[in-house]
Amino acid sequence: MDDGRDAREATIDRLPELIAALPERERALAERLFQVVVTEGEIEPPPGMEPWLERTFGSVAATRHQRIVRVMNRWTFEGATFNPLRSRRPGAGTTSATPAADPPELRQRIEGARGDDFCQPETRTPADSFGRVRGAQTVTAANVAKADGWHSVAIFARHDPLALDEAQVSDLLTTALEWARQARQSDPAARHFFLLWNCLWRAGASLIHGHAQMTLSHSMAHARVEGQRAAAERYHIETGGDFFSDLAEVHEALGLRTTPAHAVAGFASLTPVKEREVTLLAFGAQIQDLSRMAAPLWETLRVALGVMGVRSFNVALYGPPFEVNESMVGWSRVPLVARFVDRGAPLSPTSDIAALELFGSSVISSDPFDVARTLRANAAL
Ligand SMILES: [Zn+2]
Repeated sequence: MDDGRDAREATIDRLPELIAALPERERALAERLFQVVVTEGEIEPPPGMEPWLERTFGSVAATRHQRIVRVMNRWTFEGATFNPLRSRRPGAGTTSATPAADPPELRQRIEGARGDDFCQPETRTPADSFGRVRGAQTVTAANVAKADGWHSVAIFARHDPLALDEAQVSDLLTTALEWARQARQSDPAARHFFLLWNCLWRAGASLIHGHAQMTLSHSMAHARVEGQRAAAERYHIETGGDFFSDLAEVHEALGLRTTPAHAVAGFASLTPVKEREVTLLAFGAQIQDLSRMAAPLWETLRVALGVMGVRSFNVALYGPPFEVNESMVGWSRVPLVARFVDRGAPLSPTSDIAALELFGSSVISSDPFDVARTLRANAAL
């Protein structure tokens, strides 16, 4: 083919055929986990629109007949609708791969924010009641407007939120875990840990300076984490299987694995919450093992920020609570989970999240098979 793509290379629009071609066990698992529906959409453009369609979408024929693939996880009810054409819409705000240079306005906004409160955390941010945790290049601060009883910020030494390396990611996880340990010394009932990382305003960050946040909750985890735990529990009761390991196995069988060199199972999700979601699962790991995620998470970020051209992203890390006891049914089936998602071009004036994402299913223009291939092709090994 003229675009260099192998005609038999896996793509999301061939998902039903790819599942049908799996060995029996993996096919059964895929069908047990996912409902996949393919829909054809047609348009009848007036002749006057054709030059614009050709320019914008590459061909008129590609817009006349569209293949839309909908995937839903039958257990968590996470779902995505894939149509690669959507990334070519005017103003779609999708990430441009391998940008030669960042737009000057992006650098100006980042540099123009130097001297913000997080550049001087010791004097311009509050400490927690137990003080601060100071890592090699990360320092914690209490969040001024908390989203939970324990809600703090891990501020990076570097202002530029895109100036990342493995040492920063590793230090973030070590510092965040130590913060949780110290918070639990004052409040042992706080046991559900959640780390969130919003990079740039498009991903919801209110300050540009590089930072992540941690929450530590009492009797329940955040709602979507509880949703996954409940799904894994129901899956086990109804099928006898292990939800998360079956999920990883199906993604791997389809060619969606992203982490060849790590013990952590990583894959480009078939039900991404938004563009290019990568899920990392560390089986048998507790929150205390958070640092196991450092290398695979950094690998994901390195390739995303590099060849994929991602500039704005969200990361979440969570797992079973500290001190799982018999009253916490189902948590033993939850591994340590990290999720990464691309939020698109930071300078786009259009939000990437709208009514369908909030109330329906996520609409996705990136192909998970491309995401997985790119990550594997660029793996440091
Ligand atoms: Zn700063």
